[in-house]
Amino acid sequence: MDLFNSTLTVIKSIRIPDILDVTIIALMIFAALTWFKTRASRFVLIGITLLGGVYLAARFFELYLTTIVLQSFFAISIFVLVVIFQEDLRGFFERLAVLGNIGKKFPSLSGLKSTAEIIAQTSANLAKKRTGALIVLQGIDPLERHINGGTNLDGVVSESLLESLFDPHSMGHDGAVIIDGNRVTKFGCHLPLSINTSKYANIGLRHTAALGLAERSDAICIVVSEERGTISLAYLGNLNVVQNAAALHEALEQFYTRNIPGEKSHPAFNWLKENTMEKIIAVVMACLLWVAFGYQKEIVRRDFVIPIEYKNVPKNWQIDEPQVTEAKVILQGPDQAFRLLDERSLKVSLDLSADIEKKREFTLKKDMVNAPSNLPVADIIPARIHVYASKSITWTFPVNINTQNSLAEHLSLQKISVTPSKIRVLMGSRINPEQIRIETEPVDLQKIFFTTTLDTKIVLPAGVSFPDGTSSSASVIIKVKKKASPPSGVR
Ligand code: ATP
Ligand code: MG
Repeated sequence: MDLFNSTLTVIKSIRIPDILDVTIIALMIFAALTWFKTRASRFVLIGITLLGGVYLAARFFELYLTTIVLQSFFAISIFVLVVIFQEDLRGFFERLAVLGNIGKKFPSLSGLKSTAEIIAQTSANLAKKRTGALIVLQGIDPLERHINGGTNLDGVVSESLLESLFDPHSMGHDGAVIIDGNRVTKFGCHLPLSINTSKYANIGLRHTAALGLAERSDAICIVVSEERGTISLAYLGNLNVVQNAAALHEALEQFYTRNIPGEKSHPAFNWLKENTMEKIIAVVMACLLWVAFGYQKEIVRRDFVIPIEYKNVPKNWQIDEPQVTEAKVILQGPDQAFRLLDERSLKVSLDLSADIEKKREFTLKKDMVNAPSNLPVADIIPARIHVYASKSITWTFPVNINTQNSLAEHLSLQKISVTPSKIRVLMGSRINPEQIRIETEPVDLQKIFFTTTLDTKIVLPAGVSFPDGTSSSASVIIKVKKKASPPSGVR
């Protein structure tokens, strides 16, 4: 029952970002699983999984040292893995790019099935004649990166074309023929050699080359042995001898059906159907990781002093001193939500549009705080605040010119005036007009050498505001005159 309840709280606290979080991680785990599945680097996955298990256990039992060491190990191992697997990563990103390649025209499946038959038949013939051959059928991965040399060709696959390409008397019989769909695109190509040949008894270069390409891409390579007259298939890092032409035909048909889907099934559908086990493992692992790292049961409380914003103060009303400008709010939620919180964006918004004319005291409610959904407000202090507001009155004041410094010695001030010389303003009815003095921005007389008109602004003291449509700009006219030369002046 207890377990049920805590499961329920976990489920209740799930938000859309969490689902996104888990999805992304699940996709990454899935990509890693499918990648490791087809690669010789499987042992690395096993190693990482074991260490990951030890790490999770260490975290659970709070083994401080082990956790720290493994954490730093994982941080470093990311870089090491990138270096070790740079080839595979390149292939992975290439594949991602190819996923978007929907516009590519595929020949019809029935056409490809006859191509598979032609290739199988020709291979059998070549094997019977003991003519060595290496035929590559391109899958979804691009191959350019792995292939060296060769001559371009764009010809529909036929028995006679293949036989003449591998004719030992011909110039181009050395190397591999590349077939994409139903067309031969290249011949005489040099393929990368495999280094994992120990499990195959004394294989030569042709077989090693076929295996090399099959390790690096999803192409299928058919090898006809000159020495033994056998046919072998290299596919996804494995090399196997095929018993007869029929079995080869079957394998090639499967290959085409998988890689080059017919009109109905798009690669995306195939992707949905394949690798179910890996998908399940990925989702389960991502959820476990989320529970271990992302989701935190421990709820902490933090307080923040945040500004109060008075919104929608009605026209002609204003808030007088003393004005409460800050409140303390207590938020509660998982520690990690606090880490993602931008504290400076928090505020309490108090809407005064309706009540200010009647009320003095306002309750600060939790929903006035713009806290994120996973960090609900536990408390606000003070719970109620006084807002002193008064209806503004209009009043006319003279505009005083605020001067700084004095004119240069040889100048005298003839006249200084400001337009407008008076201004109507709004102010709280509690303010004593006699204490209000309205000034311009400071005018520095030291910088005045001629009669000058300056554009400046009117500065209002606290509690005083401009009525709508009044501009704060003013212009100050300063008339100066040169003083008569001082009598004591000596040349
Ligand atoms: P077989 O059973 O036919 O003898 P093998 O695996 O023993 O094949 P080798 O006897 O070394 O291989 O065959 C050499 C031939 O393999 C070369 O003539 C050439 O056509 C082909 N070959 C060798 N290296 C490559 C390569 N890197 N890429 C493509 N083809 C290659
Ligand atoms: Mg040989």
